[in-house]
Amino acid sequence: MQTLFTNGQILDGEGKALAHHAVLVDGPNIARVAPQGEFDGFSGPKADLAGGTLLPGLIDCHVHLCYAGEGNPGRAVEDLTAGEITIRALRHALASLRGGITTVRDCGGVDYLEFAVRDACNAGYFTGPTIRAAGLMICMTGGHGNRFGRIADGEQEVVKAVREQVHAGSDLIKLMATGGVMTPGVNPEDAHYSAEEMAVGIAEGHRFHKPCASHAQGTEGILNAVRGGIDSIEHGIFMNEQCVQEMISRGTYLVPTIAALANILRGADKVPEYVIEKTRRVAEAHRRSLTMFYEAGGRIAMGTDAGTPFNMHGENAQELGLMVEYGLSPMDAIVAATSNAADLNQLSEHGRIKAGAKADLLGVNGDPLADIAAVSDKSNHHFVVKSGALAAGSYA
Ligand SMILES: [Zn+2]
Repeated sequence: MQTLFTNGQILDGEGKALAHHAVLVDGPNIARVAPQGEFDGFSGPKADLAGGTLLPGLIDCHVHLCYAGEGNPGRAVEDLTAGEITIRALRHALASLRGGITTVRDCGGVDYLEFAVRDACNAGYFTGPTIRAAGLMICMTGGHGNRFGRIADGEQEVVKAVREQVHAGSDLIKLMATGGVMTPGVNPEDAHYSAEEMAVGIAEGHRFHKPCASHAQGTEGILNAVRGGIDSIEHGIFMNEQCVQEMISRGTYLVPTIAALANILRGADKVPEYVIEKTRRVAEAHRRSLTMFYEAGGRIAMGTDAGTPFNMHGENAQELGLMVEYGLSPMDAIVAATSNAADLNQLSEHGRIKAGAKADLLGVNGDPLADIAAVSDKSNHHFVVKSGALAAGSYA
């Protein structure tokens, strides 16, 4: 079946705004993007943008589907059965799609339960987002992520841990380069894995053609990950000039996850004290790092860390508002959330509006280039389309 999306602005996800154009969707794909007049004879169903904007469905490169955004999400999961965790992960995936997120990348799950949700959504048993999942985050003894990660020490064991994730069915490898905010007793500033451990882990992931992502907050840990060939630095809180230059020269992505810190402070009274203290300690450095990286021309891909305290699945689009608040232009924030995020996920047919791309689309009221709230505040969303089918809202 064909549907013509018409009567609005088109943002192609690669940085172009098209006026007076229409988009023809045929089945699950985009068939054609052309000036509106060229579709004059089209008699099939039309989706009227009503003067609003059509953009590619958003891609969140950093979520945790198994966590629900409680004050202490790790503790909350301990009380649940495997079945309950799986069902909540599915609910979170569906909520993400309804919030305009047509692809998510899970950066650390629980006992591979999220793989079942990924497989069910990707196979089309549920109308959910496209899902990529890391499996267990790989971390050192005493390091960040210990409660649910795969603990591995020394080069040989890190290699084995990577192989285990691949064996279990992971799409990417997640390695913990530094301490973090959510684990008690560790410092975000400190490097955790050594340069050697990072390098062998990343090389092993790449040997299986898996992108590698690193939770990396402190300067030394960021450099260990970047020099080891990491594909994306997640969070990137304490970046200095050297981090920025080395990342740009290697094409390393930054996935800032501003929503993680912003929401911890919003729900402060229900979050453990050590989390609040560390968040306050790092927030300003995070803003400086992101601004410096952006102004130097670095590649940014959108990610939220949804599932962390008060950082709710389905509200992921808020990250675009935060990126603009931190200095990105609205167009660059949209590119970060569409084609850049698709490229980081090795999904070149996602995150753009052009002939042959997947028909994952978000229609919004208003012009996000004039006010990013048209995208970041989901009450302005008009409809969500997944693989050519209406997934939320209506064409009316
Ligand atoms: Zn995370």
